[in-house]
Formats: sequence, C-alpha cells, structure tokens
Amino acid sequence: MRISWWTSVIVWQFADFTRGDQVVLQDDRHQAARPRNVAIVGAGAAGASSAYHLARYAAAVGIPVNITIFERNDYVGGRTTTVNAYNSSEHPIELGGSIFIEKNRIPFEAAKAFNLTTSSASLSSRSSDIPGAALGIWDGEHFVVTQNNEGSWWDTAKLLYKYGLAPIRTLRLMRATTEKFFQMYDAPIFPFNSLTQAASDVGLLAVTSATGEQLLRESNIGRLFAREIIQASTRVNYAQNLDHIHALETMVCMAVEGAMAVEGGNWQIFDRMIEESNATLLLNTPVKALDHDASSGTYTIHTGSDSNQNFSALILAHPFQYSSLSPLPATIHTPAEIDYVTLHVTLFTSPRLLSPLFFGLAPDKPAPHAILTTLPEGEHAPDRKTVGSPGFYSVSLLRQVTSPTTGASEFAYKIFSPAPPTPAFIARLLGVQLTASGELKSEDVTWLYRKEWQSYPYEIPRRQFERISLGDGAWYTAGIEGFVSTMETSALMGKNVARLVVDQWIAEGKGMRGHHEV
Ligand SMILES: Cc1cc2nc3c(=O)[nH]c(=O)nc-3n(C[C@H](O)[C@H](O)[C@H](O)COP(=O)(O)OP(=O)(O)OC[C@H]3O[C@@H](n4cnc5c(N)ncnc54)[C@H](O)[C@@H]3O)c2cc1C
Repeated sequence: MRISWWTSVIVWQFADFTRGDQVVLQDDRHQAARPRNVAIVGAGAAGASSAYHLARYAAAVGIPVNITIFERNDYVGGRTTTVNAYNSSEHPIELGGSIFIEKNRIPFEAAKAFNLTTSSASLSSRSSDIPGAALGIWDGEHFVVTQNNEGSWWDTAKLLYKYGLAPIRTLRLMRATTEKFFQMYDAPIFPFNSLTQAASDVGLLAVTSATGEQLLRESNIGRLFAREIIQASTRVNYAQNLDHIHALETMVCMAVEGAMAVEGGNWQIFDRMIEESNATLLLNTPVKALDHDASSGTYTIHTGSDSNQNFSALILAHPFQYSSLSPLPATIHTPAEIDYVTLHVTLFTSPRLLSPLFFGLAPDKPAPHAILTTLPEGEHAPDRKTVGSPGFYSVSLLRQVTSPTTGASEFAYKIFSPAPPTPAFIARLLGVQLTASGELKSEDVTWLYRKEWQSYPYEIPRRQFERISLGDGAWYTAGIEGFVSTMETSALMGKNVARLVVDQWIAEGKGMRGHHEV
C-alpha cells in the first residue's frame, strides 16, 4: 500500500477528469448575431479561466464575443505569481499558488494542452545530497515527526505503528469527500447557478458546516494523527488550525498525490488561457467604478482613462472586498465581505542550512528541509487567527540555487508566518549573528523578498455561499473561496460562470428566460 500522500508539504487536490467538457452542438441561429461584449475584472485563475472557457463555449454555438480583461497589476496570475530569486529570471520562485495535482483537472489539462513542462513538487524530488530529513513537523519544542523520503516501507511501518488505522481512515475519508466534489464538474450538477445548492446536491454541506476537528473525531481518526499530521497540513496550506477550519478544506489538505508545478511558474497556465481566448488584456488598468444601465442591461467600466467602455456582461473575478469597487450599483447584488488570512510570505537565499539549535536539535543533527508546524499537545487555538507556540506555519528549503554574483551554491527558502519575520528571527533560524545595527549580514542572507497576502479566507464552517449571479448579466467567481480556495476551484468557478453566461445567451436567443439565481 502506498501512503505517500500525507508526506507532501503542500497538499492540493482536485477532480477526476474522465469526461470532457459539456459539448454544445453548433447552433447556426447565432452565426449572424451581434458580438457580445464581456468585461472580466481580474486576470487571476478565475478571470483567465472565465475568458478561456467563454471563448470556447461561445465559439461552439457560433456566438461572436469580444472579451476585455481589466487587471490592475502589471502581470497575469493574481495570487498565482512568481518572483525571481536574486532578481534573475533563471530562478523564479512561486510566491502564491504553488502546487496542483493531477486530479486538479483544469490546470492539469491546460498545462498539457499548452505544452507547459511540469515537475514534481513532492519532497522526494528535492535534492537528497543536502544533509537532513526531507520533512519535519515541529510543535514549537520538538519534532513530532520526521520523514526521510517519500513512502518507503520503513516510513509506512513507522506510521502504522504510531498512528494505527488513522492514516488509512483519513485516506478513505478524503477520497469519499473529494469524490463528491468531483461531481460538480459534470452534468447534472455543472453548470451550477448556486454554489450552496450544488454543495447540497453533492452532499458536501455536512463537511462545510463542521470543523475539521469535529469530522475527524466523528470519523474515529485518532487525535494524535489529527494534531501531528493533519493539522500540520491545514496550517501550511491555510494558516488555520483544526478547531476552526471547516472539514471540507481539511480534507482538501490531505489530498496530495502527484503534487506538481509548472516549470517557470504556474501563472503561465493562466497567461496561455488568456492568449487562447483572444481577449483584450489591459494590464495596469484598475477598474475604479461601475455603472449599470438597467434599461439597456449594459455596464460601463470606469478605469480612470478618458474612454469608458460598455459591456453586456460583467464577470467580477476577484475577492470583491479587495477590489476598491464598492459600492456596486444598487441594481445588482453586492457580495458580502468575508474575513481573509493575512499571510506573510518571506523568500530568501543563503549559503547556510537551517540551524539545528533553533529547533532544539543537537548541533551535529541537521534540521529537516521542509518544516511544518503544529500545536503542542494540550494547546488549543482560542480563535482562528492564533498561530500558537511555534510562532510560524512553515519554513521550507525549496532548492539549491547558484548565486549569479559569486557562482556559489546556496539555498532558497520560503517562510509562511502571520507576521513579518524579524531579522533576529531569520538570524536564529540560520544560526548566524546580526550586524551591530541589528541587520542581517549580506553574506548570510544574499537575497530577501517579503510579501503580505490576503491569501485565502478563514475557512470557517458555513452552509451558505455567496451568489454567483449578481443579477442582470453580472457574475461573481470568488464566492467559491469560502468553500475551497485553490487555483483549481477559482478556475472551476470561472468555467462555470462562462457556461452560465453562454447558456443565458442561448436561452435569450430562443426567447427563453436565462438562468438566474434566486
Ligand atoms: C501564499 C499562497 C499560497 C497558495 N498556495 C496554493 C497552492 O499551492 N495551490 C493552489 O491551488 N492554490 C494556492 N493558493 C491559492 C490560490 O493562489 C488562489 O486561490 C487563486 O490563485 C485565486 O485566483 P483568483 O483568480 O480567484 O483570484 P486572484 O488570483 O486574487 O485574482 C484576482 C485578480 O483581480 C485583480 N483585481 C482585483 N480588483 C481589481 C480591480 N478593481 N481592477 C482590476 N483588477 C482587479 C487582482 O489584481 C488579481 O490579479 C495560494 C495562495 C497564496 C496567497
């Protein structure tokens, strides 16, 4: 039996694509139709997927479409983006969405279709000639787990000895849960006008409305395994502990087999989707306001430039509360705010390995390469924002890199933490001294990059999800983030909205009412 699934550092799942897209037969009645102008606000996974699928679905029924994507950043990808270590394009490092798996149907299929090269993101793919275990789970005082490589029979034996049947029960539970999710990709669930209804139809509301802790307890999964393994995964993936994160997202964290990334950056998937869609992409173009003319059903987009543009459909493909678009016109629904995690991602390069002393190891015992954290026995997070005594979520040695200035071999690291790591923290982590003025020495940390993200929602248990149709040709993708927040799920919602938009056009062409959420 292979139980390598639990050892991956970052754990994202989704979808068993055995069936292709819903096929819509060519409908000649639309051939001579006027082009539909569609505005998409946001060029992340959701916006790119909306554009890509909209172009395909519209073409399949002969509806001409002009898609314009407005993006306030100077790059495509949103939270899926890379930065270059040493500011050198030879060393891109994922700053946000890092990993997807083969069952992540949309990025996986798109990467294949676009001939993008993917490489394994599993621990065993990392350099084995660096001293130290591949993975350690640290509770602020001790390593409660260390793993040398992925899935050896000895690791498996140790796992079963320590945790009994909990790993197997978790695997079964994860598979049963994600199988329900996969139903959302195909008819009769897809396309769905209401995420709440779709989640109910596939039987997932029971897991979105319970905490991870409740589900694991009810499923007879031992507390030790839950705390040491599953909680380490919910912390590294979502900066949340089992008492607060909902059970569906908890199961997503355990679905890890075949983790991969696109070489050079996952953003390329979304870049290529936009290219394929023939959309007009306007980078550095924040949408500042929207008007809605209810009599003609058109939207006017204000970007601050002189020329305002009119559209008959509008897709808001971003978390609304961070868009500066509030208030929306009163004629359409305004998405409710939900609380997002503030996550600090710190990337740096150093010739040093992590200090064993930081983690309470003997000086001659190398620290593991990827260090996840969990709460120590008896410690509970009183609220969803508490990181607990470890003080951070994870620190990972990503790979060996060659410094372009010295030619020396160094290590690239990534830290996830609730606050920016101080120079003193990084110095302790590397076992080095600060300068007299309290700075990191440039020979110890040769490149450093800090980013504060509103990374994903606090995945609190819930039974209701934000509307998809905001009314009168306006659509919203980010409601899916309170359900599951991944590149895949944003891309799924983009695809779902694309299908709904084109179905509505088809229905209008037949003189029928379109799909509207009530
Ligand atoms: C640190 C981190 C690690 C992660 N790791 C993973 C992982 O390993 N695997 C995984 O699957 N997911 C991961 N995720 C989650 C994943 O990155 C996101 O769920 C996904 O990228 C969200 O895509 P989106 O298109 O919905 O939103 P976004 O990527 O946020 O895109 C929205 C876009 O809208 C733009 N925008 C907003 N307002 C306006 C406006 N007014 N005008 C114009 N443009 C606007 C924004 O600039 C942005 O580009 C991670 C996220 C973070 C932050």
